[in-house]
Amino acid sequence: MVGLAARHLRNLRRRDFAAGAALIDGRWIAGEQRDVVVDPATGEEIADVARCSAVDMTVAIAAAERSFAAWRELLPARRGAILRTWASLMLDHSEELAVLVTSEQGKPLAEARQEIAYGAGFLEWFAAEGERAYGETIPSHKPGSLLQVRMQPIGIAAAITPWNFPVAMITRKAGAALAAGCPMIVKPAPETPLSALAAARLAEEAGVPAGVFQVVIGDPIELSAPLLRDTRIRALSFTGSTQVGRLLLEGAADTVKKVSLELGGHAPFLIFDDVDLGKAVKGAMVAKFATSGQDCLAANRIYVQRGVYKAFIEAFAAEMAQLKVGHGLEPATDIGPMTKLSVAKKCRGQIDDAERKGARIISANQESVLGPNFVLPTLLSDVTEDMLIAREETFGPVTAVLPFESEEEVVARANTSEMGLAGYVYTDSLRRALRLSERIECGMVGINTASFTGPPVPFGGWKQSGLGREGSRHGLAEYMELKYVCFGDL
Ligand code: NAD
Repeated sequence: MVGLAARHLRNLRRRDFAAGAALIDGRWIAGEQRDVVVDPATGEEIADVARCSAVDMTVAIAAAERSFAAWRELLPARRGAILRTWASLMLDHSEELAVLVTSEQGKPLAEARQEIAYGAGFLEWFAAEGERAYGETIPSHKPGSLLQVRMQPIGIAAAITPWNFPVAMITRKAGAALAAGCPMIVKPAPETPLSALAAARLAEEAGVPAGVFQVVIGDPIELSAPLLRDTRIRALSFTGSTQVGRLLLEGAADTVKKVSLELGGHAPFLIFDDVDLGKAVKGAMVAKFATSGQDCLAANRIYVQRGVYKAFIEAFAAEMAQLKVGHGLEPATDIGPMTKLSVAKKCRGQIDDAERKGARIISANQESVLGPNFVLPTLLSDVTEDMLIAREETFGPVTAVLPFESEEEVVARANTSEMGLAGYVYTDSLRRALRLSERIECGMVGINTASFTGPPVPFGGWKQSGLGREGSRHGLAEYMELKYVCFGDL
């Protein structure tokens, strides 16, 4: 019997979106070898895609090099117009793109639609920001001279992207690179190539020239090797695990590329007893269960002050019980499957470990009847710092709740992690909010809010959560070099 995702893909208005060909030098490459794409909810094969080789990647690098001069010379406003057209084509095809995202990634369709809008937003925002890549004139320290700093495109950029936001993590990088005047080669995650290839079809239709935006799919190690080795690749942007990020950083050292890494998180979510508990519960639900928990911003350690600890657990458990787990293409679904079986297994391992060490399990830790990739929303209370879930990222719908007594204590505990991507604080005290916004060691802090990312603000982490920033003018700067020019003898 043909499953839900396969039926949706067959009914796509744009059948070419699911064709599975890579985009290299303006041509669609079907390839001799093929890889399969599966629906993570059912394990059913839903498409097959080209498996490109290292040689294909070398062809893509040469094409990017050929395209660079003309792209760099285009007026920023012209590049911006092309990016805006790309964004509006994505919005026009939002429904088909969302079906692709849900079919291969698993997230509920409503979240997939949000991802398309979020992803298109980066193209629009960078389209404008590319026109504002101002340099500086510096008051001179040398008589009779004029000192300038200019921003120029760094060169060809490469992106290695993850499966949790298979469209937006591409446009967040490509919007910045293309606006800066740099061609970009994307190697998407093998689990979610269809979304990337559909976005590439729309880039081509928007008028992005051959070689300026390319998508090469296949084995990650085989395809990343030429990218790392080649001196023409000047910038590498990666989103994914800290483990792979370290490997790429090491691999880029030989050719001294500019590396930008957006790695794992382990976000602390602090709830003080002066707060409106209803709002804190609502925020924690969003911060934990968005993208079925497969989000680097996900609240991984919910620290609740003793005075509201019990009440929080009751209220959170009641909200959690309302969540509907199922196939992302079913309209009522709140929590879909984990995209990778390894992520589901990690979640179950953390639950078992916590239970062995004395945590209380509010929801069931059982293999869902829906299939091995599903993890039921689970609440672990009385979690202690020695449990795995308190020490490593979960990336699934499992919630760890830990009690605390004082502000001093909880800040110290929140900051023990080697990860420092996001942090959340819920309090009614403005003074405390200001103090904690200074003291939490991470790249992004939400005070009384669980939704704070977007194109105009810098996204990125401290410590082992990464290097560099995406979004905002800082994201554009990742793809630019500074040039200082001194005019002497004026
Ligand atoms: P991963 O780091 O293995 O995959 C991310 C990307 O890196 C994919 O495109 C993959 O093909 C590529 N890749 C993998 N190994 C590579 C290698 N040796 N050389 C070059 N590229 C390589 O992530 P994963 O194993 O799919 O997920 C594991 C964990 O990573 C998750 O549980 C989560 O903790 C974290 N993760 C974080 C994010 C994020 O948004 N920061 C996204 C995905 C995964």
